Amino acid sequence: MGDATDPFESLQQQVREAAAEIDLDDGVVERLTNPERILELSLSVKMDDGSVEVFDAYRSQFNGDRGPYKGGIRYHPRVNRSEVKALSGWMVYKCAAVNIPYGGGKGGIAINPVNYSASEIERITRAYAKELRPIIGADRDIPAPDVNTGQREMNWIKDTYETLEGTTEPGVVTGKGIESGGSAGRVEATGRSVMLATREACAYLDRDIQEATVAVQGYGNAGSVAAKLLDDLGVDVVAVSDSSGAVYSEDGLDTRAAKQFKTETGSLSGFDGATEKFSNDDLLTMDVDVLIPAALENAINADIAERTGADLVVEAANGPLTPPADDILTERDVAVVPDILANAGGVTVSYFEWVQNRQRFAWTEQRVNDELERYIVEAFESMIDAYENRSVPNFRVAMYTVALERVARASKESGIWP
Ligand code: NAD
Repeated sequence: MGDATDPFESLQQQVREAAAEIDLDDGVVERLTNPERILELSLSVKMDDGSVEVFDAYRSQFNGDRGPYKGGIRYHPRVNRSEVKALSGWMVYKCAAVNIPYGGGKGGIAINPVNYSASEIERITRAYAKELRPIIGADRDIPAPDVNTGQREMNWIKDTYETLEGTTEPGVVTGKGIESGGSAGRVEATGRSVMLATREACAYLDRDIQEATVAVQGYGNAGSVAAKLLDDLGVDVVAVSDSSGAVYSEDGLDTRAAKQFKTETGSLSGFDGATEKFSNDDLLTMDVDVLIPAALENAINADIAERTGADLVVEAANGPLTPPADDILTERDVAVVPDILANAGGVTVSYFEWVQNRQRFAWTEQRVNDELERYIVEAFESMIDAYENRSVPNFRVAMYTVALERVARASKESGIWP
């Protein structure tokens, strides 16, 4: 990935490009392209064998003008300061794009969790939560799951916070298990918004979604749910991949069976519902109608973008295109539904979870899904309105202009203190 840009530079470039369209002062742009605060930690944790290991960990609070900082916690060996800063900034614009009352934050620990036992992961998570405690809270900063974290880790963070604070405060974190105050529909929310964004984009571009073929890179929470829900709409999901490689079937894969196979064996490799096995590069460049990158950032570089066979890309992952790849797809007239809209279902249902926690009242799954659809469709329409009425080159810049305007307005109304 020769043109893989530092993700923080990608974020700044995206915001500056949108800022130029809406004519913001340089000082405001500077403020809205840099985090307000970063917590950087060395966590010392006792391992099962009695030894001590030290882990680098971070929490970036990018902007809180529209509400509490909000964003996930990632466990991955590649987690670093720059990545966390970028991801926290994307959360600001994602929350503004779907118009929920949050700012943006993100955190992570540089760790490969498969190398640790469950009790070690629990101690690492609780050590991190102890350090986060002074800066998080239902009205301050609300963590959520991201890559390699889920309900289990969120339940531990909530419990650590509540134990140290001597209170109950389920709204301090979202993405919890249902019995710990989680919301119906949260696990599927990101994949559901990817499905809704794909459906809306096909309708806008005048393509029959039921005739569409789709390839999905990354078969974790976001990718596998998006694949399943698109499959339910009648789409042929012909190829899916994970870090072990890609599988293909011309007639469409059984997306549920593929997920079950991956859950049981740990990878898609050897899935017998596929007629062919090929590389991840093959998947990204194959001739399909819709490509859904749902793994990690910078997955599609300039070289791949030149060869991408799809004419619609829906970004389930955060930042899956390098900036040169983004430019090439725009030049090639490939429509891209940006991450800050397509994968915003996770944070939108996190918002519903937080609302339910504050009211101590649980919604039905149907209500959650209906409300989510309303938020995503409204955000899509606001993006199209900007795309058609402003001189912007693509959907991404259109969506950023809408989001940036909302953040800039809140920032201006708050003023600078002191
Ligand atoms: P996950 O850990 O559940 O799944 C990631 C998947 O990507 C795994 O199947 C992994 O094998 C695969 N993968 C990793 N490297 C790969 C490669 N080089 N090629 C192909 N596959 C590869 O993570 P997730 O929660 O699904 O998150 C995926 C992306 O979606 C991330 O960018 C994340 O930030 C974004 N996202 C997730 C959520 C959420 O609620 N889960 C919300 C918003 C955005």
